[in-house]
Amino acid sequence: MSQSVQRLSRLMVKTLREDPADAETLSHRLLVRAGYVRRTAAGVWSWLPLGKKVLDNVTRVVREEMDAAGAQEVLLPALLPREPYEVSGRWNEYGDLLFRLKDRKGAEYLLGPTHEEIFTQVVKDQCTSYKDLPVTLYQIQTKYRDEARPRSGVLRGREFQMKDAYSFDTTDEGLAASYAVQREAYRRIFTRLGLDFRIVSAVSGAMGGSASEEFLAPAAAGEDTFAYCPSCGYAANTEAVTFPLAPVSADSVGPVEELATPDTPTIESLAAHLGVPASATLKNLLVKVDGEIVAVGVPGDREVDLGKLGEHLAPAVVELVTEADFADRPDLVRGYVGPQGLEKVRYLADPRIAPGTSWVTGANRADTHARNVVCGRDFEVDRYLDVVVVRDGDPCPACGAGLRLDRAIEVGHIFQLGRKYADAFGLDVLGPEGKPVRVTMGSYGIGVSRVVAALAEQTADERGLRWPAEVAPADVHVVAAGKAVQQALAEEAATALAARGLRVLLDDRPGLSPGVKLTDAELIGVPWVVVAGRRAGEGVVELQDRGAGTRTELPLSEAVPRVAG
Ligand code: ATP
Ligand code: MG
Repeated sequence: MSQSVQRLSRLMVKTLREDPADAETLSHRLLVRAGYVRRTAAGVWSWLPLGKKVLDNVTRVVREEMDAAGAQEVLLPALLPREPYEVSGRWNEYGDLLFRLKDRKGAEYLLGPTHEEIFTQVVKDQCTSYKDLPVTLYQIQTKYRDEARPRSGVLRGREFQMKDAYSFDTTDEGLAASYAVQREAYRRIFTRLGLDFRIVSAVSGAMGGSASEEFLAPAAAGEDTFAYCPSCGYAANTEAVTFPLAPVSADSVGPVEELATPDTPTIESLAAHLGVPASATLKNLLVKVDGEIVAVGVPGDREVDLGKLGEHLAPAVVELVTEADFADRPDLVRGYVGPQGLEKVRYLADPRIAPGTSWVTGANRADTHARNVVCGRDFEVDRYLDVVVVRDGDPCPACGAGLRLDRAIEVGHIFQLGRKYADAFGLDVLGPEGKPVRVTMGSYGIGVSRVVAALAEQTADERGLRWPAEVAPADVHVVAAGKAVQQALAEEAATALAARGLRVLLDDRPGLSPGVKLTDAELIGVPWVVVAGRRAGEGVVELQDRGAGTRTELPLSEAVPRVAG
């Protein structure tokens, strides 16, 4: 099928020589400079003609694969009433992330950040029998989240495009099957899009190994860190890496011994004073969990990830203790807290503090530490929680080899939700025996607009964007240098390429130097560039492969089939 030629002289695209002042990442700089997107407000973006084409291409691939996987497309509103989010508890749980607004009568609304509630209501309304299930619904729609730090352009917007899908099943096995179908669809989507991606576990083993996985695109600009094992293939978001509990025998450890350790309130000063490694000391961080003081024990050489701690204890609110809290509790000696003899304080600990392990820790007296403090003998752990910041080289939970860390962009998230929303909304269908059966759900998201930025991050170079063929705004970019013979050959090239079914961008802008046009072509990043230049009189063009970075001179008659593949 023949395609039409898109003329740059008519296309609204204004490239910029300078980077936008606020741009922090490569994709942000290049998408703005190449005229793909334009900032309208913090985290709110307008998609210009070239950007809209790329966004539409991503959307098309997502839609085709969702349809092929048997999901049914719907479109729900972005403007939503408060009530269902009150039922689920998320009206409050979302905190400042939620855009809330009132209508003229004072009724409260929100702009949807994700739609579990509304899909649950729709299915409750439409499906009454087990015969109506399973069903997987999806939409490609605008989402709103009042992100604390909207940055990096469309990578983290306050308004953004998401594909969100929800599966509804009557059994756990059904949910697992629906999840597997979505997971496979995601693999196909990201593979077709030309994205380099990893599938990583997203929640700790405590919630079930495969209950939630993220699709991550490795990139320096990513805000997520994931750990992977080069030896066995294990991969998890660092927030989900769980270190196994490995108890040891403590038979040979002597009794607890107190040591005068003046002026050693920090782990470094203590380790230096005693001549032991920081990893042999036990650090106890005091936090308040819903107002209750709790101690968190980790090896002295590790840091507590407060975000991870918060996620484990959610919806409880975790805060650091203050001066005033210490003033109220003289039993808690700042800098010298130890779990032995700590009364009325719950003790949470990292799994490295396993039964039988022996530690140097605070003696709950100023300027005093204790050694030979054995877990299970001298103190008990109320609850094990994996809350330390994972480090490069930590042992792989699956095979013990050294883990590696990498940064990535979260492009997708699939999640076996279970019955949380069905319980909240009383979503039952009539089962085969005529009794109501509670429905179980999965939820599956792709950041469609974020994928555009993630692709740009992974493929661009300093000269500009370099789109994979499937998403590029055109297949080939034809540049006409200024002379009549060059323009004529460029027109001929554009017509011939379009006739082969290729989407052609023709730079026919008058009065621009070839240098400017070539710089723009590199910036815009279409996979092939055909230049009618120096040897246009002989019918010879220069063919640039933007991805490979190669340039070849050849007759137009040979260039056309080469590009058409
Ligand atoms: P993040 O951790 O990056 O804030 P999230 O875990 O809150 O994301 P989900 O609720 O899982 O995001 O949403 C599904 C998908 O939507 C994410 O995997 C991501 O690709 C995309 N997404 C989430 N927030 C944004 C945003 N602010 N801008 C663009 N895309 C987003
Ligand atoms: Mg997520």
